[in-house]
Amino acid sequence: MGNCAIVGVNWGDEGKGRMVDLLTERFDVVVRYQGGGNAGHTVINEYGKFALHLLPSGIFRKGVVNVLGNGVALDPENLMREIDEVASRGVPVTPENLRISDRASLLLPWHREQDELEEKRLADRKYGSTKQGIAPFYSDKYQKKTVMAGELFYPDELARHLSGIMEWKNLTLTGVYGAAPCTEAELSEWLGTYCERIKPYICDTSEYLAGAVAEGKNILFEAQLGALRDLDMGIYPYTTSSNTTAAYAPVGAGAPSAAITDVIGVVKAYSTCVGEGPFVCEMFGDEAEKLRSAGFEYGAKTGRPRRVGPLDIVATRYGAAVQGATEIALTKLDVLSYMDRIPVCVAYTVGGKRTDRFPFPAALAGAEPVIEYLEGWGTDISKARRWEDLPAAAREYVGFIERSVGCPVTYVSVGPERESIILREKELAR
Ligand code: GDP
Repeated sequence: MGNCAIVGVNWGDEGKGRMVDLLTERFDVVVRYQGGGNAGHTVINEYGKFALHLLPSGIFRKGVVNVLGNGVALDPENLMREIDEVASRGVPVTPENLRISDRASLLLPWHREQDELEEKRLADRKYGSTKQGIAPFYSDKYQKKTVMAGELFYPDELARHLSGIMEWKNLTLTGVYGAAPCTEAELSEWLGTYCERIKPYICDTSEYLAGAVAEGKNILFEAQLGALRDLDMGIYPYTTSSNTTAAYAPVGAGAPSAAITDVIGVVKAYSTCVGEGPFVCEMFGDEAEKLRSAGFEYGAKTGRPRRVGPLDIVATRYGAAVQGATEIALTKLDVLSYMDRIPVCVAYTVGGKRTDRFPFPAALAGAEPVIEYLEGWGTDISKARRWEDLPAAAREYVGFIERSVGCPVTYVSVGPERESIILREKELAR
């Protein structure tokens, strides 16, 4: 066992939380290395059903140390709410099992407001932001206009630093958007109410992780969203504002010496996409509604109905390559059981020409899906626990994905519960 990243291969919501929850058993440390409270990982276990936004999914396992790395958008208000929610349902969250990097930048009170103001200004040209302040946060971080969590331990410096940033931000809030300025009183209330409460968890997590690496501990890196939402490699500008790819994990975790040996790319058995942007294989009408309700495809954070479509092999092959996936965890295969025949997007046509390659983002608007059908299995597979338990048509569907994406499928998930999983040896899957 080495260090492993669990990442999304598509547009997000692939079921990463479920896979992390399953696999944390084998790891000593789970690290979130990017993103913030804008997406949700759904986890179902002995404590109940949870939608985790910022907390690493290892929080439910005794003995696992969970780390929020320097690459996350640390929103103290949302994080404290999430800790309270999880703790009220019997899951202990202490400085022993949750450590926040002192180098994680803070999502400031005006980031959510600015996100909302900008989406309102864009009106029908909006990006479909979850309005959690993620885009303003990351742009401010790169402009060096936010503060790091560790600064909370230097109150005099912090006060000076924050009031300088607020003065700068108010120029935008009032001048660009005509909104009310943020005040010192609001800032100190935020500091007193939320920031004070996260202080016990803040420490030098890089030092901790370097020690963990040196001791040979197993580290799991947990990503948010998927490859197609990666700021650099995704469908820009309909991406998120951080790097969702496994290659960013050691940087965003603050653990540059952690070599990642395994990258588990999570792929859903069909496609879903939240928000705006090109989605070549999108289904509409009754067909879409059936799939949406079979898979219960509504956003974990926003409740928004997700756009749905057949599995997109072109996007999945690209996503798996961008992630450097060494294996695939295929989720929600059970959802397709109602279909007589299963549509799969095997190629695109762009400008009248068929292509297997995922196009440059600007070309996606003109791309059309090429759909083929595979045989359905027409029976409930949610109780299958071994590869042999699956009907031949379901095994063929998995085999087809493996061959077309060029990556072994080592896990097949047939339900949201921890135990609803089929494990395959890598050798068998090849
Ligand atoms: P994440 O952000 O990648 O963790 O994905 P989400 O939590 O947004 O979406 C996954 C949803 O599918 C959650 O509600 C899970 O409980 C559920 N889920 C995960 N795996 C399976 C599966 O194999 N079958 C079914 N029916 N549901 C699943």
